[in-house]
Parts: sequence; structure tokens; C-alpha cells
Amino acid sequence: MCKERIVLKNLTKSEMSDFLVDIGEKKFRGNQIYSWIYKGVKSFDEMNNIPKSLREKLETSSIVGNIEIDLKLKSKIDNTSKYLFLLNDGNIIETVAMEYKDRLTVCVSSQVGCRMGCRFCASTIDGLSRNLEAWEILDQIIKVQEDLGKRVSNIVMMGSGEPLDNFENTIRFLKLVNEEDGLNIGNRHITLSTCGLVDNMIKLADLKIPINIAVSLHSPFDEERKKIMPVANKYSISDVIEACKYFIKQTNRRITFEYSLIKGINDSDKEAKRIVELLRGMLCHVNLIPINPIEERNFEKPDMVYINNFKNYLEKNNIPVTIRNSMGSDISGACGQLRRKHQNS
Ligand code: SAH
Repeated sequence: MCKERIVLKNLTKSEMSDFLVDIGEKKFRGNQIYSWIYKGVKSFDEMNNIPKSLREKLETSSIVGNIEIDLKLKSKIDNTSKYLFLLNDGNIIETVAMEYKDRLTVCVSSQVGCRMGCRFCASTIDGLSRNLEAWEILDQIIKVQEDLGKRVSNIVMMGSGEPLDNFENTIRFLKLVNEEDGLNIGNRHITLSTCGLVDNMIKLADLKIPINIAVSLHSPFDEERKKIMPVANKYSISDVIEACKYFIKQTNRRITFEYSLIKGINDSDKEAKRIVELLRGMLCHVNLIPINPIEERNFEKPDMVYINNFKNYLEKNNIPVTIRNSMGSDISGACGQLRRKHQNS
């Protein structure tokens, strides 16, 4: 890929018109090109209402921007599809599509790898390779939509990577995906998951984009959290909770706390009790995720009775709580696992 060439998929509709004007063309050409991009064209040659001379000019100054499906696996037990996408520089990322009766949710990656180092997560084992550009996050959705022949209704930024560690591209992605003549996916249908990068949570809150945020808690005790999430060395739980309250104040959105339950590590009454103390009275909800064991670590799922006890305790104490269903467990459910298997094969 030629670095100086502008990637058209990175532009909003009005930026596209500005770009066309900048290269000496009429504004309406920008609208035409924009709509071709969302019709899924991969090259300028497919844009048949654009004069050949302009197509040639575009070739020299820009690219459409495409990622390619490298592998697709379809679950036999539920309606989940897992994709590996090949990026222009040869990197591979993972995307998951979950089809329900009335919606299609896509779980996108925001980085190639991750540098947050959570002990139980497969995406972080080889560290961070690079940030994804906004259009590379966007194109995961465009390509799933095209492949399944169905409109994507919901997005979760819960694939590989830490979206708030790739702040500018994440914000641009949120803007692109929200464009009325583009994918037109409303902020309320988007959930961004973060391990709790407090400074950027505050920056996000100040932008007042009414998306949902999910915050990975995984332990209500700083010392325990540090053992499984290195980010806890930088930000304490009380910093994270303060940032969550600020986000609620700015956006009026309910926070989801993700809590991956690991046998013998964070699944006892002691943790449940502390969670109730921490979250009492807050506009929030707890999502319990029985850990998806990864080959590289010996973390195990708690027995079902522990999971249910934990849930019941929170429920009894008026903390809204759900258990996350594991989707596509036959096709490497936990994030980053499929990519690793593929790379190492
Ligand atoms: N960087 C973001 C997105 C990570 S993936 C974040 O940290 O929130 C979404 C959720 O899955 C996070 O809560 C993450 O901690 C959790 N997760 C990662 N690997 C997991 C595994 N093997 N089992 C259960 N949950 C896992």
C-alpha cells in the first residue's frame, strides 16, 4: 500500500466532497463515490457513473481501502460466524458475527494484538503489532454485511485490542459508522469495551457520544486485579469507578461491568460482596463471563454452582446481572484464539 495515497473509506461524506473539490472536481462526484463505497465496490473501475479520466486521477491519489476475508468459520451450535481478515500489510485480525432473530451483532477488533497484558486473554500474548485505522475497523462491518447479505444492527468493540489505546481511530470509526448515508448504525447500538484506561474514558465522556461502555472489572480488589490485569497498576478501581460515574453524568448511559469468572481466583463470596459495595446505587449492570480457557494459561471456568451463586448474590442485592452466553464455542470462542491458532499452524 502506498502510504501517501488517501484511503477513501476513511472519509465522511462531507470530507469526501471536500477531497474531490481539492483535486479540482465537482462536489457531487464526492457523493457518488461515497455511495459506491457503501454499495461495497472494491475498485474505481466498478464506479460506472464516474468518468474514466476521473477514475484514473483517483487511482494516482487514493485507494478505496479493502480488507479481505482470509478464513470464515460457521458454528454448528449457534448462528455465529468467525472471520479472519487479511490486512494490506499482511497482518491478520479476527471478527465475529452473531445472528439473532431480530439483530445482527458484529464484534470488531480495534488493534492487531494488544499491549494491555490481561493474563487470561489470548489477544495480548504476542503484544501489540499496530493500531487499526478507522477504515479497517469499519470495513470489518462492511465485509460481514456483504458476506451474510444482512444489515448489521449492533456493534461491540470487544474483539482483539483496547479501543481506548487507539483513541483517535476509534473516535473516527464511531463517526463513520454513524453517518446517515453510510452504515447509519446509531450510537445506542454500539458498545465499546475497555480495560479501564481512565484518562481516555474521561476524554470519551467529554465528547458526549452516547454509546454504551463496558468496563472490564474482573476483580473488586486492587491487589487481586493487578495480578490478572497489569493496567490496574496504573489506575485503581476507585479511579475507574469515578471515571464511570463521570461517563454516566456526561452521557446518561448505563455502564456494563464485565466480570470474567475464573475458578479459585475471583469467584468467591468475598468478591461478590465487595462488588455490591462498590456498585450500589450506580446506573450499571454486571455481565458475568465464565472464563474461556486459553491454551497458554491454566485458568479454569468455575463450576456452574459457583457461577449461579455469584449471580444470585448480586441479584439479591439489587445489582442487575446477566451471564454472558458463550457464542461459537466450537470455533474458538475467546477473543484472539482463532487468530493465534491460524498464525501458529
Ligand atoms: N480491551 C477491551 C476488550 C477486550 S475483549 C477490554 O479489556 O475490555 C472483551 C472482554 O472479554 C473483556 O472484558 C476481556 O477482559 C474479556 N476476555 C478476554 N479474554 C477472555 C477469556 N479468555 N475469557 C473470558 N473473558 C475474556
